[in-house]
Amino acid sequence: MRRLAKRTGCGRGLCQVGGQVKVSTLTAIVVFGTLLHVAVLAVMIWIRVRRTEGDGVTSDGARVTPCAVCGMPSVGWQYDGLDPNEQINPLTGRAWSADMAHYRPLCADH
Ligand SMILES: [Zn+2]
Repeated sequence: MRRLAKRTGCGRGLCQVGGQVKVSTLTAIVVFGTLLHVAVLAVMIWIRVRRTEGDGVTSDGARVTPCAVCGMPSVGWQYDGLDPNEQINPLTGRAWSADMAHYRPLCADH
């Protein structure tokens, strides 16, 4: 190993080829792998410490849609049954509409 390094001019991750000093492939792999791991570590730390809605942070876009009947916070949308082009689901037998204007937000009680 030492003999090969002496013959090719390589040592400590550097090789002298044609009068130019070049980084050996092994050194390049180690440096690239280290940089990759540091980048992944930074992303993992950012994911762990960022504030999310679970921490009590709400964005300006978050809003509560009130129930169309009583005004309480809605939990879902329900078809109002007024679409003239109403469709019937053959599996469930329930009516539905392709027009979102015929859906209204409702709370858990309605
Ligand atoms: Zn309601």
